[in-house]
Amino acid sequence: MSARLVVDLERLARNLRRIRAQVSPATHMLVVKNDAYGHGLEPIVRRAHAEGVRWFGAFDAHTGARVRAILGDDVRIFVWILATDDDIRTAVAADLDLGVGDRDLLEDVARLGADARPRVHLKIDTGLHRNGVRPEEWPDAVARAAELHTAGSLAVEGVWSHIAEASDAEDDAARELFLAARETLDAAGLSPRFAHLAASAAGFGRPEFREDLVRIGAFAYGIRPAGGPGEDELGLEPIGRLEAEVVAVTGERAIVDVGSMHGLPTPVGGLISVGTPGGPARVIAVEPTRTILAAWPGATVGQPVAMWGADAPHSATDVAERLATIGEEIAVRVSPMVAREYE
Ligand SMILES: *Cc1c(COP(=O)(O)O)cnc(C)c1O
Repeated sequence: MSARLVVDLERLARNLRRIRAQVSPATHMLVVKNDAYGHGLEPIVRRAHAEGVRWFGAFDAHTGARVRAILGDDVRIFVWILATDDDIRTAVAADLDLGVGDRDLLEDVARLGADARPRVHLKIDTGLHRNGVRPEEWPDAVARAAELHTAGSLAVEGVWSHIAEASDAEDDAARELFLAARETLDAAGLSPRFAHLAASAAGFGRPEFREDLVRIGAFAYGIRPAGGPGEDELGLEPIGRLEAEVVAVTGERAIVDVGSMHGLPTPVGGLISVGTPGGPARVIAVEPTRTILAAWPGATVGQPVAMWGADAPHSATDVAERLATIGEEIAVRVSPMVAREYE
């Protein structure tokens, strides 16, 4: 099987520099959930660290602990999915920053982490209703957090939220709630060092959303928003490409050995072109283990074909737009059995 996801770490480095310039003086927290959006956690965090990234958004405690093991002590690692006592113990042992969006979790963190004085970032629900303390419950939660902070059971280190980034008006309303929540914290004598609510789109486009930290994943991998500005306009480059080799040429058709089992969506058959040594070629059909292409002059067994991404006619988001989804979905569905290669 020749299918591979080839990741260009130089492009990652350029994207990281671009993001840093754009969000400065705020700090970029590189989000690395879902195995760094399918690109492979370890090489991504190592290179980002070499480029000066010192905050990582890891999603869950297990991933956070992996980042700690890879990079050591001079980074901050934020996690915001803590489902069990074991997750909390893992996160505290790895000295992670914990996103806390409900009262029960606050008590659990204080109980399980007391000796370590875990660093907590309190989350206000500003409308997404994923998790987060509801505005009407915020004053009580803040009062309790202040007690626990004063008692030394935990340290309130941040205040944060997550916004939809789908419309400016909704984001503005969310930001109002966020600012009010921060005032409540200030009034309770807790003035956390770090405020954060923006991800890629708002972090890039809307300076007033940047605060102290901007949690950017997609843009670092060069994945632009579906229906939004292009990569050129953003100054970002896709860093990954799904690639496979020609395994047979029969008359009008060339066959490459990557298919839906490897993560290429079946419905793109007939909808996209791919990059070949003879120029773009049309995808006729995606089968479970292979893809049928319209052959190009000079098509030969062994030639590499870029299915999507860097140096292919279509980026992950281009492909996603044809399927009414988002570029992240195309990137993260590349199967773990597809080798990741780095250049
Ligand atoms: C995934 C995620 C991000 C990053 O979003 P991008 O749009 O990929 O930059 C930021 N914050 C939270 C809470 C997330 O889950």
